[in-house]
Amino acid sequence: MTRPSGSVPIPSRCTILVQPMSTQLTIPATTPGRFGPYGGRYVPETLMVPLFELERVYELAKADPAFQARLQDLLKNFAGRPTPLQFAARLTAKLGGPRIYLKREDLLHTGAHKINNAIGQGLLAVKMGKPRIIAETGAGQHGVASATVAAHLGLQCTVYMGTEDMARQALNVARMRMLGAEVIGVESGSRTLKDAINEAMRDWVTNVRTSHYLLGSVLGAHPYPTMVRDFQAVIGREARAQILEAEKRLPTHLYACVGGGSNSIGLFYEFLKDADVKLVGIEAGGRGNGLGEHAARLAAHQGFTGARPGVLQGTYTYVLQNEDGQIAATHSISAGLDYPAVGPEHAWLADQHRAEYAAVSDQAALEAAQLLSRTEGIIPALESAHAIAGLIERLPQFKPSDLVILNLSGRGDKDMDTYTRLLGKLT
Ligand SMILES: *Cc1c(COP(=O)(O)O)cnc(C)c1O
Repeated sequence: MTRPSGSVPIPSRCTILVQPMSTQLTIPATTPGRFGPYGGRYVPETLMVPLFELERVYELAKADPAFQARLQDLLKNFAGRPTPLQFAARLTAKLGGPRIYLKREDLLHTGAHKINNAIGQGLLAVKMGKPRIIAETGAGQHGVASATVAAHLGLQCTVYMGTEDMARQALNVARMRMLGAEVIGVESGSRTLKDAINEAMRDWVTNVRTSHYLLGSVLGAHPYPTMVRDFQAVIGREARAQILEAEKRLPTHLYACVGGGSNSIGLFYEFLKDADVKLVGIEAGGRGNGLGEHAARLAAHQGFTGARPGVLQGTYTYVLQNEDGQIAATHSISAGLDYPAVGPEHAWLADQHRAEYAAVSDQAALEAAQLLSRTEGIIPALESAHAIAGLIERLPQFKPSDLVILNLSGRGDKDMDTYTRLLGKLT
């Protein structure tokens, strides 16, 4: 699709998008939950009280041995942690570059890393005495993880999902309903993740006393980006110990896909202080560089246009927007990467050059998914396939002694319709 430059259409939904957020636009230096200038808490007054409560209860839970024991028990016996760190021998041979290890988050219960965070926040809801969970979902993986944890802990669950995503991810809608969750289709805007988040936040404003908003990525107002990162950091803690055991050295590179940024920061966090470990996040390059064609917030160096710092849904970070500050439409073949903002900690890591970000196209992700399937016998989620494609595109930059850990954030069952429809052309 081409579009004359300088005539980006202004989507009519944008007034709705910014309306429930941001009452405060200055940046006090001492506000908690800041990553450099990014992050913060830009929400209406009514949400300040539940956010303070969540922050306080989360701080208590961190130091509460009973909470931690229950968390560890569920991660191990319900979700299936620790996940393996598998040497990808045939992929390594086929690509002829670095040694590649896969962190197998795809093997977790419900099929993706999302369950790590859902368990943590589900236990916090119980601790706060809230009987109901509200969640939003894009690909449906977070909705499924939330519905799963809610059922396991005896909580009610309402999941908001854009109707466009419901069509793309029908299997996950069926799973959530099977688990007893109420799935509410969102018809506003682009009918995808950010619209679902708006509706979930509206519900939360109305039902704060009885409901916990179980946000699925390192997005939203403080304490979510910090708290969700902490619940996902188990990925990197395990991977660090596993690679030291297997290779007796640290990796040279970490690769992960970046939607909101939770699986990537979950892998990166334990390695942040290891300056020699390169952190690489791969975004959705969609079908082109123009605004509306992609969801690449941190890849301006590759010519992806439209990302500038701004406030979206409670946090200050890089946001895809037009010249008037209206939130841009996004496109990705992968529902889980199709979001106009990125977690604020990634914005900071990018500015600091501590992590690098790049985007790959829909087509490259599809081809990478097929390659992994046929070399390793693992069908990856479309999101995770972006990380593989990112590694493949950067192969010329590697030395043979390089050692990569690639986070396989989820499995591809949910994407089989897309693979079947689009990969026929490739074989
Ligand atoms: C949701 C999802 C993602 C993207 O979310 P992050 O918060 O960036 O991790 C990536 N992979 C899978 C399998 C997902 O379900």
